[in-house]
Amino acid sequence: MEYAGPRAALATLGGSPTWGLGDRFHELAATRGHTRLAVHRPETPYGLGPEVEHYRGPSGREFLRIPTYGQVVDEDPVLHASEWKTFWILWKAGVRVLLVGGTSGSCDWRRTAADEAAVRPGDFVLPRSYLTRDTMPTGLPGTELEFCLPRQVAIMDDPFCPPLADALRSRAGRVADFRFRRIHGPEAGVVLNRWLAGNGFESLATCRMLEASGRQIGMPVITGDCVSPVLARVCGMHLAYYHVVANWGTGLEPEDPTIVLNKLYMETLPAVPASLELGFLDEVSEPTTCRCRELLRARPPEYARALSPRAAK
Ligand SMILES: [Zn+2]
Repeated sequence: MEYAGPRAALATLGGSPTWGLGDRFHELAATRGHTRLAVHRPETPYGLGPEVEHYRGPSGREFLRIPTYGQVVDEDPVLHASEWKTFWILWKAGVRVLLVGGTSGSCDWRRTAADEAAVRPGDFVLPRSYLTRDTMPTGLPGTELEFCLPRQVAIMDDPFCPPLADALRSRAGRVADFRFRRIHGPEAGVVLNRWLAGNGFESLATCRMLEASGRQIGMPVITGDCVSPVLARVCGMHLAYYHVVANWGTGLEPEDPTIVLNKLYMETLPAVPASLELGFLDEVSEPTTCRCRELLRARPPEYARALSPRAAK
């Protein structure tokens, strides 16, 4: 299938940090000198895709924005293959740097007032690694990336591009009129428990388990939304992921996460991450000092020949 949408090397999937802006991200962007050139709705091999906004920033750089991880109102993202549609679009559009933001709970075991270094609500996190407890897309069905394991394998060291994490860290430290309580870089070893598009929060048991395993491996765990790091790597993209800690994991502390989250999404945020994203996208270029592309390893041709041949069409 031919891709009929706009092309760019940079893209953002928006996400929960900018949720509170509703469909007005472009209005805030305009106040920062970014022009929304057009809005597209491309067809994909998996059905009609999400909206694709095409922007040009003050420096002349162009980027794409797909709102909220490619999700569509009233459609189950898994049932409607939203991650495949989104990545097919980004891949065909030639995207090399993909920015994704998330929010959600901290399951850090260090929760007393004296635990200064802990990952707490109000913090900004650049995770070091991730856990996958749900099935995640690892290829793009119907394309040469459908099941590419015999030809190439994604090594998942540095799932989140380190130079891009540095760029995000420095941006987060100089947002106008706002201070994150603390910024945790990759050296803090925070683990993202990837959780996308469920209709509920994690249960108390899940949070207790993440708290205990974090203590055991010496890496605090946060829960949060992020697209598949494997899919990003297989599609040849550098994944820049940032996380704003909104609340404690459900049940770990006597707080109501919906109240905390609504206040955060509607009031405290979302202009802060929106400005951070716009500034980042207008400045960043494809990193050359990371291993993101090298970590997608080619394999000997024998491996593919060891599988049954493709069925005759
Ligand atoms: Zn990279």
